[in-house]
Amino acid sequence: MQYLSTRGGIQPISFTKAVMMGLAEDGGLLLPRTIPRIDSQTLAAWKDLGYAELAFEVMSRFIDDIPASDLKALINRSYTSFDTPEVTPLVHYGNLHILELFHGPTLAFKDVALQFLGNLFEYLLGKSGEVLNILGATSGDTGSAAIYGVRGKERIRIFILHPHKRVSPVQEKQMTSIMDGNVFNIAIQGSFDDGQAIVKEIFSDIEFKNRMNLGAINSINWARVLAQVVYYVYSCLHIARHENDGSLTFSIPTGNFGDIFAGFIAKRMLPEGSIRQLVLATNSNDILARFVNKGDYSLGKVVQTSSPSMDIQAASNFERYLFYLVDKEPERVKELMLEFSTTGRIDLSVHLDQIRRDFAAAAVSEEDVASTIADFYNQYDYVLDPHTAVGVKAAMLYQKPGIPMICLATAHPAKFGDAVEKAIGRPPTFPESLAGILDRESRCELMPADSKMIRAFLEKHALKP
Ligand SMILES: *Cc1c(COP(=O)(O)O)cnc(C)c1O
Repeated sequence: MQYLSTRGGIQPISFTKAVMMGLAEDGGLLLPRTIPRIDSQTLAAWKDLGYAELAFEVMSRFIDDIPASDLKALINRSYTSFDTPEVTPLVHYGNLHILELFHGPTLAFKDVALQFLGNLFEYLLGKSGEVLNILGATSGDTGSAAIYGVRGKERIRIFILHPHKRVSPVQEKQMTSIMDGNVFNIAIQGSFDDGQAIVKEIFSDIEFKNRMNLGAINSINWARVLAQVVYYVYSCLHIARHENDGSLTFSIPTGNFGDIFAGFIAKRMLPEGSIRQLVLATNSNDILARFVNKGDYSLGKVVQTSSPSMDIQAASNFERYLFYLVDKEPERVKELMLEFSTTGRIDLSVHLDQIRRDFAAAAVSEEDVASTIADFYNQYDYVLDPHTAVGVKAAMLYQKPGIPMICLATAHPAKFGDAVEKAIGRPPTFPESLAGILDRESRCELMPADSKMIRAFLEKHALKP
């Protein structure tokens, strides 16, 4: 399988190159040249596969430059770190299925992709003899999942910037209590946006980036999207076993458009009708809901909510969908992205029919998040985290009789204890892996939000070839 840029400015490259490149060198995002199709017989033949076996079947359709036995081993290793052999178990309450994606080491869905990406990086670097210094900014979840993905790995160091005292205490400890020598946490005196701006500035200095072998780990990496396609297919197989029609709807709490874009790929891969609808659920940062409902993709101001991992306006994966929306015309993508970066808005209302065939959407208010957590707890004795509650509320709006609705549960409620306690009047139960976390020893540099100082820190601590 070859990979192309949404902006058309690079020669087709292999999967391996696409993973190492992250962002395409022309500023676009990388996509497979075609989306492979899975027919009904093939799908039916997968029904008894375990999660890792299924992941191999799905991913190997997009990867032809890693030997099958190596890819199998990589995938197996990535999912044994989950606390259940099902990896992404489905539970059922009322009319809803909940797809629990938080059984990995940091209790958020990002582990599903980052456990795999960490192993993949290690494998590819071992082959090429290169080194990689990962630099990223986090508002909480991505940083810890990325750190757990690469901790202790050879040829890799990771530098994660988080806003000092603006991540939850659990999130902070999840990052800073990791003692592996290749992990560097930097708390900056500023906001998440300040951290993000520093990372962007450093990455735009191509000379520095190349000299320091810098790599990114955010959701622009195609391998992350790919790993997330698997659980959509897994759900189709698992639910179809119980309910015969075989047509499903998913509700997906959305921030950077990564997880829902994986659903879009799955919808195109699977036999027609397997996935009937993808419901895009946002919190009060509703740019993507406005896009789906009105074709209006325009920046608003980021507001803080109880689901901070979705407090995003410009969604980094949006360009991937845009590419399909304009019939894979890179020139058109370039024009539109330029317009967006200069005016903060693009009008895509001429495409509304297509957009509505691909998605439905709802923006969920803070009051509705809290009441959804409370109602679900009172009815079913099951505690939703605020991100998952956004998706559950949106699911209720779009549910149709006879069509199973699957809500993606993106984080364990214990990661967002304050919001959950406010909603249900007691703190969520801590899973064993978090027991005592707040008392663990930790290690972190405190630095001003100053890119010169971050560069100097990288110069000093980055792994040299
Ligand atoms: C990152 C994250 C999301 C949003 O996922 P996207 O791929 O950015 O849309 C939702 N919930 C949680 C808990 C997250 O960490």
